[in-house]
Amino acid sequence: MELNNSLNKIQGIGPLFLAKLHRMGIRSIKNLLFHFPHRYEDFSNIINISKYKLNEINCFKGVISGIENKRTFRKRMNLTYADISDETDSMRIVWFNQPYLANTLKEDEEYLVAGKVVLGPDGLYLSNPAFEKISKKDDQELIHTGRLVPVYPETEGLSSKWFRFILYPLLKEFASKIKDPLPKEIVENNELMPFEKAIWEIHFPKTPELAEKSQKRFSFQELFFIQLLVLQQRIKINHQRAWQIPFDLKIIKEFTESLPFILTGAQKKSIWHILNDLQKPRPMNRLLQGDVGSGKTVVAEAAILMTKKAGFQTILMVPTEVLSKQHFQKIGENLSKFGVNVGLITSKENRITKNREMEKITRKELLEALKSQKIDLIIGTHALIQDNIILNKPALVIVDEQHRFGVEQRARLCQRYGAQAKLFPHLLSMTATPIPRTLTLTIYGDLDLSILDEMPKGRKKIKTEIIPPIRRQEVYKFIRGTVEKGKQVFIICPRIEAPEETEISKLILMDTKSVKKEFERLSKEIFPDLNLVMLHGKMKPKEKEEIMEKFRNKETDILVSTSVIEVGIDIPNATVIAIEGADKFGLAQLHQFRGRVGRSEYQSYCFLFTESRARKTNSRLKAMVDLDDGFKLAEKDLEIRGPGSLFGLKQWGIPDLAMKSLGDIKLVEKTRNQAKELLEKDPTLKNYPLLQLEVKNLKTAVHFE
Ligand code: ADP
Ligand code: MG
Repeated sequence: MELNNSLNKIQGIGPLFLAKLHRMGIRSIKNLLFHFPHRYEDFSNIINISKYKLNEINCFKGVISGIENKRTFRKRMNLTYADISDETDSMRIVWFNQPYLANTLKEDEEYLVAGKVVLGPDGLYLSNPAFEKISKKDDQELIHTGRLVPVYPETEGLSSKWFRFILYPLLKEFASKIKDPLPKEIVENNELMPFEKAIWEIHFPKTPELAEKSQKRFSFQELFFIQLLVLQQRIKINHQRAWQIPFDLKIIKEFTESLPFILTGAQKKSIWHILNDLQKPRPMNRLLQGDVGSGKTVVAEAAILMTKKAGFQTILMVPTEVLSKQHFQKIGENLSKFGVNVGLITSKENRITKNREMEKITRKELLEALKSQKIDLIIGTHALIQDNIILNKPALVIVDEQHRFGVEQRARLCQRYGAQAKLFPHLLSMTATPIPRTLTLTIYGDLDLSILDEMPKGRKKIKTEIIPPIRRQEVYKFIRGTVEKGKQVFIICPRIEAPEETEISKLILMDTKSVKKEFERLSKEIFPDLNLVMLHGKMKPKEKEEIMEKFRNKETDILVSTSVIEVGIDIPNATVIAIEGADKFGLAQLHQFRGRVGRSEYQSYCFLFTESRARKTNSRLKAMVDLDDGFKLAEKDLEIRGPGSLFGLKQWGIPDLAMKSLGDIKLVEKTRNQAKELLEKDPTLKNYPLLQLEVKNLKTAVHFE
């Protein structure tokens, strides 16, 4: 049998199991061997039945008798009873809902059993134990009891017991045949456990120490492959040729002098990094990370201007049409005086700035203008990847709110415009999500980083308060006062429609306010004399734009919205944001919402409505009150939710152990250094065909591109 054979060659795996394994992403024998346990049960200490410990896991060896099935009618459960006896005592065993056991178990045979001893109404019993028949042969190797027993990530119908049963013979056949993909010098330099031993120990460890050492080896291995992949990518980018955009200091001076404010030190430094990169003949790959409101747009504007002055074009991709319109207006306003012509492409309309006016044009005219380079900057959503857009000289790609896009989408955007021109565009990604160091050293390892760690001067801390139901009216009064002072207000609701009133929805969604209902209530009952508008994602793009437009022009006072305004929206005159059902949102999202206010020198406020009294939600919301720094909030989020869900890494297909070790900075640094060293000697890994293969497999499994 071959290692890459599909699983149907294995005895004991029929079509039903096969389908279940496929659903877990296990397709080959090799996949199965690399399905590692996530913990171990210690059944190694076999004791006499008379020495049992109540409410603890006990492992006994004895003869089984009195096997019988019973049904309890009241609870509709199947119970299987048996007795186990050794020379010291005997004990009752009860299994729940596994009636087939009565046929599997053999009377008067010797078994090892492991499970919890508990006290029931009819006395002591061993509850739902794992069991294993003792064979007459002396060299029997135990796999389910009497040892450290592996517990696997399970799915319905594929139990840990089943995995052990299938994996043990597979390991016997294959463990010695698999070649260690890690070069010998790497194994030795890092004191890693050799492959064959490690694959045995990770599944069926002799001691906890050996289990740990084997895990460490595979963690190293998985991270090492990721490092190789990412670093090779970086080498590849460095070999690509890009448009060279000369750095013209005079233009930048003029630009900064035209701004109504002074750039922060961090903004200046980032502009400097970027303009330096753009001069080079290889593509920039830079991430600009700065908390909400730190002023990323103006940094992008400097790069756009420089690109135009050098005679090239820029593509700016954003996650929502609302945001694309905002950028079109703001950037158009700031840059058209420097002769930058801006185009906007949305599903409903196309626009262009011309002599500082914003004109509507047809799609055809827009495409024509892009081709003939009458437009220097084109702004749009992911339609920029798909649509049939051709640019004359696409030298710079900017992705705003990059965390909203998949890694592949970003790479596809660059590749698409790079392929058109045969020269590769420079890439500037922008995000408010802080990326922990361990990630910039691994999966984001191909990026250079600029950080805006300084807020524009004069910003006041946004006052944040948790609002229980009894204080609701007080907040409404405050909102009214805010509007009377000429300022504007956001009210965020978690849902669009009111849920259908089923019993369950009443229970779960009780306090989840819908925009539609809430809008009605607020405009009829609470603020009948004020100007309210509603915004949600299901509206037509045109409608959304008109609403935003009116709000921006101060024609309306209060915007009642779903999370569509989460990213990017910049309306400095809005100073209050009230969030309904605040406990329904994650910290990162709440922080993004809050960032919609506090964008000027006025004091701003954020009110977190909640009806929840659970301690956990409260500590989360309290973090919002205490912390105003996005980085610290992200750390808290990381603590609460782990890197997987926070960065969407689960969808990337990163192997489990690598995911767990992404938090281990020492291991991350070690694997990175080792990978660097190796690639310096052999950039294509031509002397390491096994590594080459692993990296190739990883590239298809993980969606880095
Ligand atoms: P974000 O980083 O969230 O994208 P924006 O680029 O939208 O932030 O900037 C937020 C607001 O701050 C905008 O109104 C912008 O004009 C303003 N701004 C940017 N830089 C400065 C600065 N150095 N001083 C004062 N205001 C600034
Ligand atoms: Mg922004």
